[in-house]
Amino acid sequence: MAAPAEGLDPAAVTFVRCTVDLGAGTARIERLRCRNLEDVLGGVGRAYQLLAERDIRAAYCPENPLVVSTGLLTGSAVMTGLRTYFSAYSPLKHSDRGLPAAMWAAGSDKFGARLKWTGIDEVVFEGRSPRPVYALFRAGPSGPQVQLLPAERLLGLDTHRKIMALHQEHPDAHFAVIGPGGEHYESVYMGAVALSTENQFKSGEDKCRFAGRGGMGSVMGYKNLIALAAAGPDQVPPATPEVLEVNKTLLKPKAGGSTRYQPVRQGGGGGTWANLEVMQAFRAAPENNFRPKAHQAVEGLFRRNVEKDLEVRSEACFRCGIRCHNNVFERTPEGPGRFIAKFDYEPLNLFGSNLGLHDGPQTAELVKLADNLGLDAISAATTLAYVLDYNERHPDAPLLNGATFGQFERIRDLLRRTGEGLLPEIGRGVKRLSRNLGETAYAMHVKGLELPAFLPETNPGYIFAVAGGHMSMQTQMLLAKEGKTTLEEWTGVITRLGLLQAGFDAIGLCKFTGVWINSEVIARAVQAATGLPMTTGQLEQAARRIYLRGLALEWKQGYTDAEYTLPDQVFQDPNPAVQLPNFVTREYVRDLKRRVWAAFAPELQELAPTFPPKESAC
Ligand code: SF4
Repeated sequence: MAAPAEGLDPAAVTFVRCTVDLGAGTARIERLRCRNLEDVLGGVGRAYQLLAERDIRAAYCPENPLVVSTGLLTGSAVMTGLRTYFSAYSPLKHSDRGLPAAMWAAGSDKFGARLKWTGIDEVVFEGRSPRPVYALFRAGPSGPQVQLLPAERLLGLDTHRKIMALHQEHPDAHFAVIGPGGEHYESVYMGAVALSTENQFKSGEDKCRFAGRGGMGSVMGYKNLIALAAAGPDQVPPATPEVLEVNKTLLKPKAGGSTRYQPVRQGGGGGTWANLEVMQAFRAAPENNFRPKAHQAVEGLFRRNVEKDLEVRSEACFRCGIRCHNNVFERTPEGPGRFIAKFDYEPLNLFGSNLGLHDGPQTAELVKLADNLGLDAISAATTLAYVLDYNERHPDAPLLNGATFGQFERIRDLLRRTGEGLLPEIGRGVKRLSRNLGETAYAMHVKGLELPAFLPETNPGYIFAVAGGHMSMQTQMLLAKEGKTTLEEWTGVITRLGLLQAGFDAIGLCKFTGVWINSEVIARAVQAATGLPMTTGQLEQAARRIYLRGLALEWKQGYTDAEYTLPDQVFQDPNPAVQLPNFVTREYVRDLKRRVWAAFAPELQELAPTFPPKESAC
């Protein structure tokens, strides 16, 4: 895996790391030279190399670092260059041996850019603070400055209130905070990190962005790190003609591919919400714990039906023309009233029809509650769906409050109490709950991380995702959109294209730009914004190594071949209501794994001493 001869020399590039020792209350800032292209890209490209150096056996230990990083293009003038990444060993995702898996989560708007503009590319939080603190970063006359400040007064506030309280004190800052979920880290392993937005400050409404997956907010809670603040003026570099050209390309239907995320009124598809109609056309939109019915109740959550009760407005992160947010408001005679929540496909479906709720306002209230509590919407909703399913199967001995599908008030009560740390059964995720109950077949997770809103029987690519089923392996629409079912097709996409998605979580751009990391558009963006002559080939190689390092870290944490599989229900009880080819059998998964492992073996053997796996019956 040597770096290609032509293009950029990584050693010519440096970055600034700030290491904060929370136990001692000290910080060290150093400029380091990049060792490879992944270091140059930044984000998880660097963070996963640091995690690989640690021997971590429990997520809640002082040696587990929390790496908060920006990407090469975070804070640049390239559109969507706003990403912040949070990486650590996860309390939620874990191997059957009980070891925590490495994870990352990413979020947008201006916190990452502000951090970058202080002169810091990456912060490594070591140890654990003896008291609740928040970290404040700002540019000083002789370089970046860091302070750890008391945070007791923030405890108990929801994510939005924490941000607004900090905003009062630091009006020139942006923030990353945890909610009550992360504060109750001992019983909530799925705490999210909420990122402040320009729109939030302007409107006073709780329009945060979230880095949700894998419990990075819970890791912050364990560390007694309640919030991060990055202060200072905006320093967006001037957009050169080359950068403007790249930004225009990112908005174009063909070259950029962001069209389906753009507002309907802008000629786009209306954001990820549109996925609901695509999947429901095949009765493949998750319903009642990933078990669609033949009926059409899901249509209650189609945009045109939700708009009968609520106002929907397209809004955006800082300076982003893609405007992918579908914000829903109460309807008043004067127009939009109280802001309720943002409707993306995952929370909309998982807090809606997957819980047996097909009502826009009810679903919006649950999305809002999860966001305010600082819970990962996907993990919380998917674990809730399991509880409802269990209760439907065990009417005489139900769990908790006995809630089952469609019971809005009871479901809301479970969600609220989970975020308050009162229901560790739900807060620790569906893998632990289902194993404790001895009913794992319908627990919708892969490798300990709850599934997003695509049926597992339509996406064997989940098996190979390393940090979120649809965010680190882009195969979730392959069957519905392209009809692909053969082993050759799936092996090809998993081992060559789907994994390149990991590059987005290094470089600082949003996946909703819709372009693959191998696109020449990204290379042009890097050249235009930084002057670095990174080739398309180098970008692809770096993205591939980032993904493979994620896979190698799974092996390091004790995953075995048997854990690379889908929930048993997929094989045992295929759903006749789903109108897509039923091709994912145990034999298919066995053969797919053989092919994928063979394709990865030359590189993976170098990264993971325990590879290749001993084959198991899946
Ligand atoms: S594509 Fe959406 S999430 Fe990404 S930066 Fe633009 S508005 Fe924000």
